[in-house]
Amino acid sequence: MDYSEIMIRYGELSTKGKNRMQFINKLKRNIEDVLSVFPDVKVIAERDRGHVFLNGADYQAVSESLKEIFGIQAFSPSYKIKKEMPVIKQAVQDVMTKIYKEGMTFKITSKRSDHSFEFDSCELNQILGSAVFEVIPDIKAQMKNPDIDLKVEVRDEAVYLSYENIKGAGGLPVGTSGKGMLMLSGGIDSPVAGYLALKRGVSIEVVHFASPPYTSPGSLRKAHELARKLVKFGGNIQFIEVSLTEIQEEIKNKTPEAYLMTITRRFMMRITDAIREKRRGLVIINGESLGQVASQTLESMQVINAVTSTPIIRPVVTMDKLEIIQLAEKIDTFDISIQPFEDCCTIFAPDRPKTNPKEHKVEVYEKRLDIEGLVARAVESLSIIEITSKAKEDNLTQMIDNFL
Ligand code: ATP
Ligand code: MG
Repeated sequence: MDYSEIMIRYGELSTKGKNRMQFINKLKRNIEDVLSVFPDVKVIAERDRGHVFLNGADYQAVSESLKEIFGIQAFSPSYKIKKEMPVIKQAVQDVMTKIYKEGMTFKITSKRSDHSFEFDSCELNQILGSAVFEVIPDIKAQMKNPDIDLKVEVRDEAVYLSYENIKGAGGLPVGTSGKGMLMLSGGIDSPVAGYLALKRGVSIEVVHFASPPYTSPGSLRKAHELARKLVKFGGNIQFIEVSLTEIQEEIKNKTPEAYLMTITRRFMMRITDAIREKRRGLVIINGESLGQVASQTLESMQVINAVTSTPIIRPVVTMDKLEIIQLAEKIDTFDISIQPFEDCCTIFAPDRPKTNPKEHKVEVYEKRLDIEGLVARAVESLSIIEITSKAKEDNLTQMIDNFL
């Protein structure tokens, strides 16, 4: 007997009152996106629960995917059986024989939402309990915390049996908190920052800066692969690539080396903010964390931040590097992040960038540049691709491979 469907319990949704159906529908679309690699799977979202119908898809693989999707509290695989007492009895006996190990206790929890069914839940518990004793005479019934709690649900269309309750990822369905622009480099920190934003329901569009020909197509592909790792938490992601080449050349030619990093970062921030406005994002998310490097002092953050009043979420700002690495390993981005590809920020980087840049000085140097024109041309240069779950994405990787 194979599982026919997976019953989904929602997470923190209950606190959301009248927005509830909106939340549930968002979660449904996210599940559909993530499970789009299983073409036969069908998702239905009701007010209290969701149902993923397997239609022959591999239960194990689907279950592994469901464990990652934010907004799911728990889920239970179930068997769908005919609504006839002999069939139900037989199924209960089969399932119990399969999962019983010596010494285990059990109970049957029946629920009848189809009130026209000939037995009520009390009668069902008794009849099916006896059926279990017929095939496993040594088993003990126990009402409080039994080893096996076999749930029998009589619904209009069929009867469902389930006994497992698998913990989901929790969090909020991606997209229910609005949209933010994730500044994604090829590093360790920004994918983790993206993951943490997704966890609280923020959907993300990725903004990635490249400086061809100084940065290679391999470096771009690395960023694609990092973004792909984030799809499994809540669905497809728009990946926006922006060229920083002209800006970086201008900065290198016209401003002091010690301020190159700060001024470059201010441009990245301005451009990201312009894209955010165009695409109706609410916040910017980045992977900045407090540390020893020049871009990571509070003084530096302050000067970079000064170009916008848009809220900037820095999910990893106070985390230790080791904590960030642990999360990077958990979400499977670490091995990609440590691949040695150049980032646009490192190509012209001076040996000793300013750790305490002064805003008034930066403003003087920036007067040498056509800020508006440079930002506008960078925004015009952007290209967008949609990063989807794995099977389709493999085509994308292949496309890039062919391109290389
Ligand atoms: P990461 O590990 O994410 O690269 P980091 O610790 O190396 O972070 P920085 O290199 O100072 O820190 O970058 C700070 C943040 O700026 C990054 O986390 C990212 O959000 C953003 N950033 C840096 N480079 C790029 C890039 N090429 N494209 C988009 N965003 C970038
Ligand atoms: Mg970096």
